[in-house]
Amino acid sequence: MAMASTSPATLERATALLARLVAFPSVSSTPNLPLIQWVAEELTKAGVHSQILPSPDQEGKANLIATLGPQKEGGVVLSGHTDVVPVSEQAWESDPFLLTEKDGKLYGRGTCDMKGFLASVLAVLSSTKTAQKTAELRRPIHVVLTYDEEVGCFGAPHAIRALQEQAAPACVVVGEPSLMKPISGHKSIAIYETRVAGFSGHSCDTRQGVSAVMTAARLVAKLGEMQVQEQRQQDERFDPPWTSVHVGVIKGGTAVNIIAPSCSFLWDLRALPEGDEQALPRAFAAWHQEQILPAMRAVHAGCSIETHAKAMVTSLRPEVDSSAERLVRKLTGDNRHRYVSYVTEAGQYQRAGIAAIVCGPGSIEQAHKANEFLTKDQLAESCSFVEKIVADCCKD
Ligand SMILES: [Zn+2]
Repeated sequence: MAMASTSPATLERATALLARLVAFPSVSSTPNLPLIQWVAEELTKAGVHSQILPSPDQEGKANLIATLGPQKEGGVVLSGHTDVVPVSEQAWESDPFLLTEKDGKLYGRGTCDMKGFLASVLAVLSSTKTAQKTAELRRPIHVVLTYDEEVGCFGAPHAIRALQEQAAPACVVVGEPSLMKPISGHKSIAIYETRVAGFSGHSCDTRQGVSAVMTAARLVAKLGEMQVQEQRQQDERFDPPWTSVHVGVIKGGTAVNIIAPSCSFLWDLRALPEGDEQALPRAFAAWHQEQILPAMRAVHAGCSIETHAKAMVTSLRPEVDSSAERLVRKLTGDNRHRYVSYVTEAGQYQRAGIAAIVCGPGSIEQAHKANEFLTKDQLAESCSFVEKIVADCCKD
């Protein structure tokens, strides 16, 4: 169903705001505070009060929370992250931090993931039309901008906690790229590092040492076997329809003729929402403690195998009749259920008791790639979606 389109003036303003947002090279490894401060100033100009919430553990990083309407429970949150993925080693045809328009498409890093959504939210909420309606809002609209989503969704939990303490919202729309179609569920992701400490020696007599590299190879092979077992449990709503395991990086050893003293590898686990997200790591640890470690320790007591989680982002469990689902389906007229394998902050809201759904402009196909773009049509659709949320929050 096509949405009623926003006014040309709002679209123009959203495009200008997107250009400013893209011009902040807010790659996750760098501070996002300049962008956050600029947004706060823009909101102040429009008479919208906002709070900057500095990261408790990282300098130069902050979340932002703004509220329109009454300070009370039951509001709607519009949430997005401000960080973007790097552009290094990508072949861009234009400057990634300079919004470039061509054939109805807006090119730039973060246009679809997900500064386009932020631009539409800011354009609508800071418009004079919305300012006139603020007094009519029956429920509050909260804007949440987060940091460090792309590296493990580290910012959102702080913002969610602050929001809950002020006025518990009823639901949240996380505007990750979905071509403005509601997404009801996604998998979780956990990133682990497994470190193997072996015992070094000359490779002419391998009985005297424990090769960390060879041990790690067995552990990686075990994860491969566990992946095959996982494929027996399928949930056809997801693609691939099982919990997946992948080892992406492995490092170890010093020379071909030295028994490797250490080896470590990074792996991720993307689990289906309904299962136990910790089951596989637990089974993996139990297996290597019982089956691998004793023989290593028989050679040298200092040998060890340790796995620790580097990042963990919870899944979004489908809740077909939640207030977030009802709101977005009413506004988009779209009643199909969709499930994805990428991760968003929506699951973190859901675990905090706030009904969540993903719906935002642009396609995930363009995210994280060179020449990332958002069509002007999608930006316009996102603006009219936010306008509809404002109108809906004015009704009882
Ligand atoms: Zn994103």
